[in-house]
Amino acid sequence: MIKTLKYMRGRDWFIAAAAAMLTVLRVYFELRIPEYMKQVTQLVLTEGNTLDMVLATGGWMLLTAFGNLAVMLVVSTLAAHVAANFATRLRILQFERVSSFSMEEINRFSTASLITRSTNDVSQVQIYLAMVIRIMIPAPITAVWAITKITSQGQREWSLAMSVAVVILLIFIAIIFKFAMPRFRRIQSLTDNINRITREHLLGIRVVKAYNAEPYQDAKFEKANDELTRNNLIAHRIMMIQGPGMGLVMNGLSIAIYWIGAGLIQAAGAQDKIFLFSSMVVFMNYAMQIVMSFMRMSMLFAMAPRVAVSANRIREVIETEPTIRDGLLEEAPEDSPAGIEFRDVSFRYPDGGECVLRDISFRAEKGETVAFIGATGSGKTTLLNLVPRFYDATDGEILIDGVNVREYRQEALRKKFGYVPQTAFLFSGTLRDNIDYGDSNGGETTEESLAEAASIAQIKDYIDSLPEGYEASVARGGTNYSGGQKQRISIARAVHRKPQIYLFDDAFSALDYRTDKALRQALKSKMEGATTLIVAQRIGTIRDADKILVLDQGRLVGMGTHTQLMETCRVYQEIALSQLSMEELVS
Ligand code: ADP
Repeated sequence: MIKTLKYMRGRDWFIAAAAAMLTVLRVYFELRIPEYMKQVTQLVLTEGNTLDMVLATGGWMLLTAFGNLAVMLVVSTLAAHVAANFATRLRILQFERVSSFSMEEINRFSTASLITRSTNDVSQVQIYLAMVIRIMIPAPITAVWAITKITSQGQREWSLAMSVAVVILLIFIAIIFKFAMPRFRRIQSLTDNINRITREHLLGIRVVKAYNAEPYQDAKFEKANDELTRNNLIAHRIMMIQGPGMGLVMNGLSIAIYWIGAGLIQAAGAQDKIFLFSSMVVFMNYAMQIVMSFMRMSMLFAMAPRVAVSANRIREVIETEPTIRDGLLEEAPEDSPAGIEFRDVSFRYPDGGECVLRDISFRAEKGETVAFIGATGSGKTTLLNLVPRFYDATDGEILIDGVNVREYRQEALRKKFGYVPQTAFLFSGTLRDNIDYGDSNGGETTEESLAEAASIAQIKDYIDSLPEGYEASVARGGTNYSGGQKQRISIARAVHRKPQIYLFDDAFSALDYRTDKALRQALKSKMEGATTLIVAQRIGTIRDADKILVLDQGRLVGMGTHTQLMETCRVYQEIALSQLSMEELVS
C-alpha cells in the first residue's frame, strides 16, 4: 500500500497533510470534553456554586463538542477528496499502461483480472485511504495523548486496570489476525475467478442458451461463488468475535474502574471524595477513548492485508514494462527497398508449447498482394499479427521498407496499416465514428472521404438507405449489425485511413461470394501502390493475388501464383479441389 502511495499527486499529499493537522485539533477538542465534565461535576458537588457557573462551563463544553464535529466534517471531506483523486489517478495509470501492453501481457494478466484490478482493487485502496486519514491518524494520537493525561491523574490502580485491558485487547487482536488475515488475502483472486466466469458466460450467452448449458454454467458459477462465500464467511465470522470481545473488555474495564473507585472513595476523607469522584469520571472517559482507539486501529489493521493485496495488484499492472519495446525510427530511409520482408521468422506463443511458425521467408513488394492460405491452425493469423507487432517474432526478422519492425516507433509503425481483424469489431457510437476511427494519417475527414471508403467496402448503398446515414448509431460491440455488415464497416475503416499496407485477417469470409468479388475489384482499382497481406479461407478470394503462400502446420509449403501452385503444390491442390467447383458456379 505504501509503495503505491508514490503515485499520489503532490497536491493530494498537501491536502492529506492539512487533514492530518486538523486531526490533531480534533483530538484536542475530544480530549478537552472530559475536562469540562470534571469541572461540571466538581461545581455541582461543591457547595456555594451558582447555576450560572455550571451553565457557563457546560456552554464551553457544548462549544467544544460542536468544534469537534465541525473539524470532523472538514477532515472527512478532505479525506474523501484525497482518496477519490488517488483512485482516479490509479485508474488512469492502469488504463494507459494496459493500452501499451502487447497481447502477451494482456493474456498473462487475463482480461478478467485486469478489470478487477482497475475497478474493485482501486475501490479497496480508495476506501482504505480515506479511512486511514479519518481514523488511523487520530487513533494513535488520541491513545498517546489520553494516556499521558490519565497518568497525570495519579491513581495507579486505575492505570493498572487499563494496562491489563489493553494487553488483553492486543492478545485478542493478534489471535483474530492470525486466523482472519490469510482469508482476507485470498478475496481478490477469488473475485477474479467470479469475474472470469461471469464474463465468459455473458460473452457466450447465445451458445449457452442454444445448447441448454445453463445447468453446466450454473454449476461452474456456483463453485466459484461458494468458494468466495465460504472464504468471506469464515473471515467475517472470525472478525465478528471482535465486536463482542471488545465490548467485553470495555465493559470489564468500566466495572474495574468503578470497583476500584468505590474502594478508593470509601477510604478517602470527605473533601477528597469529590475530587476522587470527578477524577473517576474523567478517567473513565479517557479509558474509553483509549480502548476505542485500539479498536479502530485493529479494524484498520484487519483490513490491511486485503488492501495490500489490492495495492500490489494495481502496482503490478502499472509497473509491468511491456515486452514490446518502442523503437526510435519515424520513417525508413529514402533509398531503402520498399515492401515487406520476412527473414527466417519463427514464432512460439509466450505460454510455451511448440513453434507455431517455423522459418518463414518471403517478400511482398510495394503494391503487391500476397495471400496466405492453409488449414485452420496452420498459423496464418499468427503470421499476420507479427507484422504490426501485436507479438514479436521469436526468431528471425520482419522488415518493412528495409527496416526491422522493432526499430520503428510503434505509433509510426502502426500508422502504416489498415488492419481488419478476423472478427470485425465495432465501437459504440455512430457509423461515422467507426469509419473515421483513431489516427487517420492526417487525411481530412469529409462526407466524400467517408462515402468513398464506404463505397469501396461495398457498404455505401446500405448506409445511404438508413434514415440517419453515417450518424446511425452502433450498439456496444456492434450488435445491431449483421456479421457481414460489421465486416464491411470494419473494412471501410481500414480503407478510410488510406494506409500504405493492408492487413486483412480472413476479413472476407463473412461476405457472400458476389460482395467478396466486388469488394476485391474496388480495392484493387482504388488502392494503387498499397501492399496487401491477406489471410483467406477461400481460393476465390486470393486467386488473383500476385503471390500466394501456402502454410501447413506453421511451415511454408508452397509459394507462387494460383496457376503455379495448382501445378506444384499438393496442399494447395487439395484446398482448391475441395472448393473450386462451388466457386465456378458463381464466377
Ligand atoms: P490460423 O489463422 O491459420 O487458423 P492461428 O494463427 O490462429 O491459425 O493459430 C496457429 C496455432 O497457434 C494454433 O495451433 C493455435 O492453437 C495457436 N494459437 C493461436 N493463438 C494462440 C494464443 N494466443 N496462445 C497460444 N497459442 C495460440
